[in-house]
Amino acid sequence: MPKIIPYGHQSIDKSDIQAVVQVLKSDRITQGPIIDKFENALAKFVGAKYAVCVSSGTAALHAACIASGIESGDEVIVPTLSFVATANCVLYCGAKPVLVDVYVDTLTINAEEVAKKITKKTKAIIAVDFAGHPADWDKLRKLAQKHDLILIDDAAHALGSVYKEKSIGSIAGLTAFSFHPVKTITTGEGGAIATNSEALYGRLKKFRHHGIEKDKKNDKKYGSWYYEINNLGYNYRITDLQAALGLSQLKKIKKNIKVRRFLWNRYKEKLNNLKAIDLPIEKDNAISAWHIYPIRLNNKAKKSRREVFDFLRKANIGVQVHYIPIHFHSLYKKLFGYAKGDFPVAEKYYESALSLPLYVSLSKQDQDYVIRKLKESLYEEN
Ligand SMILES: *Cc1c(COP(=O)(O)O)cnc(C)c1O
Repeated sequence: MPKIIPYGHQSIDKSDIQAVVQVLKSDRITQGPIIDKFENALAKFVGAKYAVCVSSGTAALHAACIASGIESGDEVIVPTLSFVATANCVLYCGAKPVLVDVYVDTLTINAEEVAKKITKKTKAIIAVDFAGHPADWDKLRKLAQKHDLILIDDAAHALGSVYKEKSIGSIAGLTAFSFHPVKTITTGEGGAIATNSEALYGRLKKFRHHGIEKDKKNDKKYGSWYYEINNLGYNYRITDLQAALGLSQLKKIKKNIKVRRFLWNRYKEKLNNLKAIDLPIEKDNAISAWHIYPIRLNNKAKKSRREVFDFLRKANIGVQVHYIPIHFHSLYKKLFGYAKGDFPVAEKYYESALSLPLYVSLSKQDQDYVIRKLKESLYEEN
């Protein structure tokens, strides 16, 4: 039996380590020059004018909501099938996350369901590019234009994904990325927001640094120590150590996405003939960076998801379930009265899904082991 094969894993090489060590030996390990470099490279890569790096993907979502002016009394439409941070960031602002169901094929937010939930209080829509697959941005953009809403992309899964020849990061008003170790590139913890708006960029920079506003014009008048706080901010800064790792990782992202897509296709080839499971799909208009590989057991499966999951975990395969729908969490039930049955597509997916290992250093041999054990767990022969 191989040692544990996780569902996701960072890929760090010598050049990454060297980049971090170099910063460790330098004068500034945070608030130094590497953050700007990383931000510029990131903005260029995603096709946005600006990128602001912060301490996590969750902080990036929080910052995106605050920069959008989301506050108490506002409603923000969010898919129930996501990591809970997608909705928590709305709660951080004192606003109300309004959950909706997802499309059965791409598992991204259902735009027709979004349309039904828009009220006078709606301020923004947060869509998730689930598993890396882009949401239906054309439909979302039309809705946003019609009702004057802000579009926020939770692209924690989708750095490097493409929708209709446009990079994720260049489509929504604000796009949040995560650099957690299981994501496409890592900085340990970390995240970023991409935007084309200079005004939003200014707000994001202040928000991550206590709300500090430094206007050089005031130096002469009040002294060069002078700054102002006009809006509440946090310490959501990223460090130069992290930025150096991120910058080094970003240099390899294209190659690494190729590997992810190769492994994704390899699963597809080798699992396509299994009648008991449905595989993730990629639409013709999309190129996904494939953060995870979620399969679904269908009604031909003779085993339960729990049985398959436990069997694979026992075989040292770190399968995972992405995600418990947000409306199932007692916090959200308590606050908003959500109940089982509210979002049937997300619920059915949740009951039947599990994510297989997918990461750059997953060897073909280990992938074959995963495939073999999955077949065993389903009692199906090749
Ligand atoms: C990982 C993730 C986040 C949060 O990112 P962190 O960097 O862990 O804070 C938010 N949304 C989704 C969909 C994620 O997968």
